[in-house]
Formats: sequence, C-alpha cells, structure tokens
Amino acid sequence: MVIYVDLDDFKVVNDTLGHPAGDTLLRNVADHLMAELKDATIARLGGDEFAILIDGVDSDDSLAAIARKVQACFMRHVMIDGQQADCSASIGIAVAPGDGTDGNTLMKHADLALYRAKREGKSGHHFFEPSLDEQARIRRQMELDLRRAIREGEFELYFQPLYSLTEEKLKGFEALIRWQHPEHGQISPLEFIPLAEETGLILPIGEWVVREACHQASMWSDDLSVAVNVSPKQFVSPDLTGKILQAIASSGISPQRLELEITESIFIANVEKTMATLYSLRELGVKIALDDFGTGYSSLSYLRSFPFDKVKIDRSFVTDLANGGNGHAIIRAITTLADALGMETLAEGVEEFDQLDILRREGCRNVQGFLLSKPLSAQNVREWMQSDEKLKFGSQAA
Ligand code: C2E
Ligand code: CA
Ligand code: CA
Repeated sequence: MVIYVDLDDFKVVNDTLGHPAGDTLLRNVADHLMAELKDATIARLGGDEFAILIDGVDSDDSLAAIARKVQACFMRHVMIDGQQADCSASIGIAVAPGDGTDGNTLMKHADLALYRAKREGKSGHHFFEPSLDEQARIRRQMELDLRRAIREGEFELYFQPLYSLTEEKLKGFEALIRWQHPEHGQISPLEFIPLAEETGLILPIGEWVVREACHQASMWSDDLSVAVNVSPKQFVSPDLTGKILQAIASSGISPQRLELEITESIFIANVEKTMATLYSLRELGVKIALDDFGTGYSSLSYLRSFPFDKVKIDRSFVTDLANGGNGHAIIRAITTLADALGMETLAEGVEEFDQLDILRREGCRNVQGFLLSKPLSAQNVREWMQSDEKLKFGSQAA
C-alpha cells in the first residue's frame, strides 16, 4: 500500500507563523507518523509531501481503516512557540497488485488519487481508480489546448449588464470570458478557469481579459463601467498593478470605469501582499468589488479588512427569495451593513420580477441577471444598447 500525503494549507503556516514554525510542524508530524506506523517506511518527498509504504495489508476493510489512521496522524493542533497551528492532510492511496506492481506505477497512481482527494476538499482520502488515469489524460489535453488557445486567440469576452435600481439606469457590464474551441465549440469558464488557475495559465489569460475589457469599454459611452474577474493566482503574481495600469493606459479609459471583482479566497494566501496589492490598485483609481459575497467561511470579517466599493450578493441568496423563508431578511442585513460601510450592493442572478421586487424593497442598489439580459457578445452589446431592452426595469417601475 502506497500512501501519498500532502498537508493542507501548509503555505499558510509558513506565511503566517514563519518558516521555522513550518519546519517544527513538519518534524512534529513526522515523529507522530513514525510512532503510529512502526512497521511502515516513511519518507518526506519534499516540501509538505510525504509518502508511506505499508507492506502486507490484505482485506479491503482494513485499507480504509489504515487510511483513517494515517489521516489522524495529521489532524492535529500543534503548539509552536505558544502559537497554535492547525494541521490536516489530503491522502491518495494505491494498492498492489491491483493498482500497479512496480514502485513507479504505484507512486504515480497514488499521486493521481491525491490530486483527486485535494480537489474534493481538505483532509480527505481517495483510493486510486482507473478512471483517474483517463481524467488526467483529459486534463493534460485541455492544458495543451489552453496553451494553443492563448497563442491563437480563441477567447472572447461576453458582457452582462449591471443595472442600478436606485438610479433606474444601466451602469456598466461585467466581462465574462468564453472559449471558442475549434472542435468542441463554446466552452464555459466554469470548465477551464480552474485548470487555468492550477497551471498558472490564468496569468496570460487574465492579462488578455483586462486588456480586451478596457478596449471594449473604450468604445462605449463614458459613463459605463466594465467589471473584470480577477482570480487569486493573479493577485499573488508580481506585477498585477502594472499590468492593469498598462491596460487602462493603452485603452485610454479613465481608471474609475474599471472595476475588479475579487473573491474572498484571495485572502487565504499571503494576506499582507494581498492587502498591499489591493491598496495599490485603489491608488490607481480602479474600483474593487467583493464577488460571490456570502458563500465563504467568514464573509463578514472580510468586509472589515478592506473598504470595498461594492459587494456582490451571491446568486444563491437571490434564488432563495422565490422559495419564501427568511431570504429577504438576509438581503436586508447585507444591504444595511453595506450601506453603513459606504459600499454599493449588487444582487447576482436575478431571473424573476418577484425577486427584483423583493430586492428593491430590501434596499439592494444594483442587479444583474438573466431577467435583464444574458451575457452578450461585444457585437450584441452595441445592438442591445440601441434597443429599448435596457429600459426594461425602468418602465416596469414607472
Ligand atoms: P461570476 O463572476 O459569479 O459570474 C456570474 C456568472 O453567473 C456568469 O457565468 C453568468 O453568466 C451567470 N449568470 C448571470 N446572471 C445569471 C442568472 O440570472 N441566472 C443564472 N443561472 N446565471 C447567471 P459564467 O459566464 O459561466 O461565468 C462563471 C464564472 O467563471 C464566473 O462567475 C467567474 O467566477 C468565472 N469567470 C468568468 N470570466 C472570467 C474571467 O475573465 N476571469 C476569471 N478569473 N474568472 C472568470
Ligand atoms: Ca464576477
Ligand atoms: Ca459572482
């Protein structure tokens, strides 16, 4: 049985408590493993990765038990210099002879199982299964395709209107990326952004998105803004501010028209650097919106950490409004809080007039959703602005 282990969020320990603390944690975990698994061969492969070889296991039943035992070795609070570090690990497992009969294959398969365990969330374990091989092959192909897409310019931006309920007018658009794959047709960002983030390809892609979004906005009326999604990976890259400045400058739009949408997850890694970047972006004059608000673990505390210009209330809260219940109380709480903090609010995913009415009543200032319009191609944005469609909500209210 080969067990591939990777600590969860070890980087956070290093970043917040320092590298000596990280070293102490690794030694502590290693000691514990050796004490618990006396007959196993244990190795640290580098960084926060360990491999464990256990010889002579038989029934399936005991496999899961062993996995849990190994996991328990990592699930602990460790005190380092009076500070508590939480530790947990993700685990991938391959078992001979079914999953391979040589070291290389077993390690490779345990690694694939680990990759899957990580994807399913923290502190889980996963056994190798042949379909993981197929999925890895698909992923590799998609990565190659993504590289080609960047080279050949296969991406396109769609734009979804952002509408102000308080002013009864169109305020701007959110840019949403689409991939026109030569064989598979249009691919949703939900399918390729995660891989782009994992592989670092989000950096060139994100750079293109900001440039293209600013360029498109330069052809709209001056009072319309453009919102761009920025992923956490971009936030820790060295020169995000410089890249954004370039995009603004070469398009000629005023920086106030660009809004960057970030999610709470940017705060997980390297908080100090993240804050510094946020403030330097603010310095440029661009707006910062907190996206998918309410879906994270400690949404409220993030509101305190930075003076966001806007809070985008996640679609899940809006969907709930139609089902009765206390959904409107939550909207009211968020809008009241945001008002007090001087932040705009926008509700995402508005699909029905009933939802719109409640949102209006509960003090939400802006909306976005299929009710007003689906995301539109750049060409269709121009046509849409000529039409009366954008007056839809205004005439309803009148
Ligand atoms: P998001 O930032 O939350 O974007 C809103 C998503 O909700 C969009 O999906 C939009 O089409 C969809 N949506 C808008 N109104 C409605 C509605 O009324 N009902 C429903 N059911 N859905 C609605 P899309 O375009 O597929 O994008 C998905 C996600 O991909 C985005 O979620 C964003 O996280 C990410 N994404 C899109 N473009 C980019 C990009 O350029 N860079 C990065 N890093 N991420 C992007
Ligand atoms: Ca967004
Ligand atoms: Ca969102």
